[in-house]
Amino acid sequence: MIPRIGITISQAGPTVKSQAYGAAVRAAGGEPVWILPADALDLQSVDAVLAPLHGLLLSGGVDIHPRYFGEAILADASVEVDDQRDTAELPLARRAVARGLPVLGICRGIQTLNVAFGGSLYQDLSLLGIDRPAHQQRVRQQLEDWQPAHAIDVTPGSRLAGIVGELRADVNSFHHQSVHRPAPEWVITARAPDGVIEGVELPTARFVVGVQWHPERMVTHDPISRRLFAAFLEASRA
Ligand code: MN
Repeated sequence: MIPRIGITISQAGPTVKSQAYGAAVRAAGGEPVWILPADALDLQSVDAVLAPLHGLLLSGGVDIHPRYFGEAILADASVEVDDQRDTAELPLARRAVARGLPVLGICRGIQTLNVAFGGSLYQDLSLLGIDRPAHQQRVRQQLEDWQPAHAIDVTPGSRLAGIVGELRADVNSFHHQSVHRPAPEWVITARAPDGVIEGVELPTARFVVGVQWHPERMVTHDPISRRLFAAFLEASRA
């Protein structure tokens, strides 16, 4: 059985960056199915999009509008939004979990999960007293996309810990926002050494996992990223 994995992307269609999600899903034995926001702008379409799928991957991209966690856009936070993606992806996340689908949220995707279930975000890492480029490896450190930029400490006993197999790992980093208040009943599964939340999950679900880094860009070099996709695909096969 080849699980069909829906991958959210922007209305512009698959880019070089989104192809990396597709390649990682294929390498783990799945068939990627692109989900454009215009295909899922109301609840009926959301269910129609999800019906033939075995898993949902919420991908990276621009920021979620802070109105979804009760804030206005702050000056100097460099917030960039995509209303269509928000309109489609927040209900997609909630319905996928309600239907019992395995969900993997990556970068914007961990933020989508957190906001969809009632959590909040830091609109910019500078609000945490962290220098913005500290988690943007192209800006300061000029690393390749597959190269790790910082460590994470993984929460013992979490699903993520079971997948990673170690309590410390090294990950890449391309974000200027992060989870602030986790959604009720969700648990924090990883933090960077500076305290930034890098992983959350819903412990009551079979596989609903969010990560702030980009494992799809590391799979060629990093066994932990491969294990994360393998675990997601295994859950999607069940
Ligand atoms: Mn980071």
